[in-house]
Amino acid sequence: MKFSDVTCPFCGSLCDDIEIEVEDNRIKTIENTCKLGTAKFLNVHEVLTPLKKGEEISIDESIAEIADVLSNSSRPLLYGWSSTNIDAIRLGVMLAERVKGVIDNTSSVCHGPSIVAEQSSGMVSSTLGETLNYADLIIYWGCNPLEAHPRHMSRYTSFPRGLYREEGRRDRYNVVIDVRKSDTAKVCSNFLKINPNQDFELISALRLAIKDKPIPENVAGIHRGEIEKLANRMKNCEFGAVFFGLGLTMSEGKFRNVDNALNLVKDLNDYTHFIIMPMRGHYNVKGAGEVFTWQTGYPFGVDFSRGYPRYNPGETTAVDLLMNEEVDSMLVVASDPVAHFPRDAVRYMKKIPVFVIDPAFSLTAGISRVYIPSAISGIEDGGTAYRMDGVPLSMKKLIDAPKGILSDKEILTRIIGKV
Ligand code: SF4
Repeated sequence: MKFSDVTCPFCGSLCDDIEIEVEDNRIKTIENTCKLGTAKFLNVHEVLTPLKKGEEISIDESIAEIADVLSNSSRPLLYGWSSTNIDAIRLGVMLAERVKGVIDNTSSVCHGPSIVAEQSSGMVSSTLGETLNYADLIIYWGCNPLEAHPRHMSRYTSFPRGLYREEGRRDRYNVVIDVRKSDTAKVCSNFLKINPNQDFELISALRLAIKDKPIPENVAGIHRGEIEKLANRMKNCEFGAVFFGLGLTMSEGKFRNVDNALNLVKDLNDYTHFIIMPMRGHYNVKGAGEVFTWQTGYPFGVDFSRGYPRYNPGETTAVDLLMNEEVDSMLVVASDPVAHFPRDAVRYMKKIPVFVIDPAFSLTAGISRVYIPSAISGIEDGGTAYRMDGVPLSMKKLIDAPKGILSDKEILTRIIGKV
């Protein structure tokens, strides 16, 4: 059977032009993916049954144990949610409310500061369809899409022909601002090498330069002439777009850097049309924030322990709760915090009961009390995910999961039924 317009469930670009051929419940051919997408579609389950401390147990026993521990915890943490569909995320929020826990998604360790800045300053943005059709100046700041979002430049920004950019790459000017000459910088028209942790200073200098105010001779390692040239190009383009990554969000200054960048883009809209967008990593991290916000009013780090939703990044976010030893159990869905969290947070995770629901047997699964393998969302289960620009796209079920493996939705519904 052939499937067209399949959505790739790997990165926030959420390419929805993938062609897949399935034979005997196996993916036989894949077209249009990058190497990351291909690897995701060829993923296979390593573990086919729930495990308790390495020993096989039944799905009923594993669900009963998770429900029992979460119900009897004084403040459980429910973490992950960026690599599953929005129906599962909605159930996660419902479960967190029922057990009076804290629910957090991976934004709190990636673009959380960007979201905080968006909340305080507002953000001028667009869809990726608009950048494809209109953008003539593209700036990648603190990110390396050729490695992290390999088709972003060829589908939405720098290379393709658009409605008003018929010459494709020749109609667009591409700039990279980064601390090192990344692969993306090597294929762009201009590369500005910035000193580490001086993004705020460079953004401030650009804001001065576009208003024709004097700036120092050298800012963040970049000569005044280069800054003025870029400011001039920004003011005089027809449609400019800044895409920024963790190099901006997580360098010194954090949400202040992003806040300054959002205001730079607002300033530019006095002269031309300019937008800005964070490069979201996991394919549905944007969707996790959307669902949390519909349900609770807050995009991540939502604490139900007082019976109503409360949000205070730095206090109600996963790493802070673990480092301060303020939660007493943890359910991880579609994420691998042991691979990414600071050592002290992981050390505390080893002291409390941790449960994992994930298609892959991750490092976190390795320290878990109970691990339940689940169907791969976007391959063995359908649903909806949000692209980095906030456009919802449907994902197709292409093959059946191996016998006995349930979807995240089914597992969470059964846990909710027991708490
Ligand atoms: S760029 Fe991202 S969404 Fe597109 S095919 Fe590659 S991994 Fe999948």
